[in-house]
This record gives sequence, C-alpha cells and structure tokens, in this order.
Amino acid sequence: MVVLSVENLKVRYRVGHGAFIHAVEDVSFKVDEGETVAIVGESGSGKSTTALAIPRLLPPSATIAGGRIIFKGKDIMALSKSALNKIRGKEIGFVFQEPVSYLNPLIKVGEQIAEVLILHDGLDKKDAKLRALKLLEQVKVSDPHRVFNNYPHQLSGGMAQRVNIAIAIALNPSLLIADEPTSNLDVTVQAQILNLILSLKKELGMAVILVTHDLGVVSGVADRVLVMYAGKLVEEAPVKNIFDSPLHPYTKLLLKAVGRQTEVDRDEIRGSMPNLVTPPPGCRFLSRCPMRMDHCSEEVPEISLERGVRVLCWLYGDRRGS
Ligand code: ATP
Ligand code: MG
Repeated sequence: MVVLSVENLKVRYRVGHGAFIHAVEDVSFKVDEGETVAIVGESGSGKSTTALAIPRLLPPSATIAGGRIIFKGKDIMALSKSALNKIRGKEIGFVFQEPVSYLNPLIKVGEQIAEVLILHDGLDKKDAKLRALKLLEQVKVSDPHRVFNNYPHQLSGGMAQRVNIAIAIALNPSLLIADEPTSNLDVTVQAQILNLILSLKKELGMAVILVTHDLGVVSGVADRVLVMYAGKLVEEAPVKNIFDSPLHPYTKLLLKAVGRQTEVDRDEIRGSMPNLVTPPPGCRFLSRCPMRMDHCSEEVPEISLERGVRVLCWLYGDRRGS
C-alpha cells in the first residue's frame, strides 16, 4: 500500500526583488508501506526542500507553487493547521541534520520526550516518563535514567541524535523522514545511527525516507533511490539498478565519486550547479554532462520509463536523441 504520494511538487524560495529560487521542480514519487527510499544528490539539489515539504515544515520564505502531497489518502496541502499538527506529531516523524539544535537547551531531554507523549498521546506525567525511558532503551541508549536527566548540551552528537530519533518514533509514525541524520557525526557513530534507524524501521514497520548526499551509504540500506539534481528528480530506481546499471549521466558520475574520501576526488563531477533563480531552459545538468547533445540546451527532458526505472534524460525514451 502507498503511504505517501508526491505529485509534480514545485517549491520556490523568495529571495527579494521579486526573484525566486526554483528549488524543486516537478518532483513526483511514491513511498510504499515499510519501504526505505533514499533521496541522494549533491548540496543544493533540493533534497531537504523536498523532505521538508512533505509535513509542510518549509520556512516562511518558501512557497509550494504546485503539485500534490498525499499522505495515507489525505491531501496534506488541504489540511487545517490542527489536522496537520496531528499528522506531524503522530504519523510522520522527522529527524534533522543538526541533532542538538532541535532540542530545547533549557529542558531535560527526558522531559522533552515525555512532553510529546503527554501532548499527543494523552499520557499522564508518570506514564509518560516510563514510556520515555523505554524509548531511550529502544534507541539503544545504555543508561536511559542518566540521559533522561541530561540537558542537551551534556550529550554527544550521536547521543543527541538518538534522543531526536526517540522523539520522532515516540508515537509510532508510519513514515520517518531523516534528513542527513548522520552527516555531522563521526564515521563510527554514523554507522551506528544508520543501523539504529534500520532496525527501528523493521521493528516498527514504518516507511523511511533517508536523505543523504552520500550515495555510498544507501547500498544495503534503501530499497529505492531518488537521485536529485538542481531541483529535478533525474532518476528513480531500485537500489540495485542504481549501483549495477545507472542510467542518468549524473547518477553515473555520482557513482564514480562513491568511496572517494578527499574533496579533490569528489570534484570529479566538475563544474557547478546552475543558478536556480534563472534555471537554464533545457536540461539542468547540461553544463556538466559528458553525454550532452545539441537539443539538450533547448528542451526540458521528459521522464521516461526504462526497464522499470524512471529517468529524466534525452538519451532515453521514445524521443531519444530527437
Ligand atoms: P544540502 O545537501 O546542502 O542539504 P539540499 O539538497 O538539501 O542540499 P536544499 O536545501 O533543498 O538542498 O536547497 C535547494 C535550493 O534551495 C538551493 O539552491 C538552496 O540554496 C535553496 N534554499 C534552501 N533553503 C533556502 C532558504 N531558506 N531560502 C532561500 N533559498 C533556500
Ligand atoms: Mg539538505
């Protein structure tokens, strides 16, 4: 069953003088119950904008300029504020990139978890505390009582992220969205947090959207991968296809960069993303594409279906090369 369906999502940010950044353009995808979908792409490709749009957590400068977001049959865009708050708290959990900054510095972390349970599940203080301690255990905190009484600044980055995950799963959401949940953590902690998300996913049967700029982390983690570039979804494929037979020239380049540790090596994908205030008229990947053809600069590519994979490139589809 489909949990989430995003159709032709279009998001722009107001940047003054009547100008907009066209951050997400015509992005469509579905997430099935219990499925893990990764969104990958380099910085600025629109991953967070897409992720934040789903529970409508975008900043005020952003406008959803088109498209539909259907979560469990409900049109997210049409919901009242209170209905939306219910979904945000209960049905969609969100884990952010900066673990500490999403916790209130003045409140003990255990109380912050308990507060969610009191507010949304109607538990009394005592039951909420017991359940919060259970949640800390569930996110593999070794000393739940101590951590319950800690303030956020007393936690390591990894521990703070575990607390955020505890809050995100507190109400058994059907969908967990994790936006670069490990990118500010040490490498060993990164793996632990990813494994934690995966084991919780199995335990709780939730679907997961995992946002990452590192294609390397998605193998063995995701079922399906969405590759974004400059606000466009350029390829959507089962994880195996992404690694064994990538189609889009950008996915191929991303794959080449996997496993390379230094910034110099990562620069293999030469050049930079186009300006998204005035995006180019044709393909947004044109300036960096080793396979570009003449008409790629004039016509926006259409999504085509190739062996069960969706790809946005003039090399594929009925009108290939035309
Ligand atoms: P990263 O890997 O760096 O997190 P991302 O793929 O998540 O990148 P987004 O944060 O979604 O990318 O950004 C997409 C585009 O929107 C970029 O051009 C970015 O500069 C712009 N953008 C993002 N947030 C804002 C904002 N609050 N105001 C204006 N522009 C923004
Ligand atoms: Mg981001």
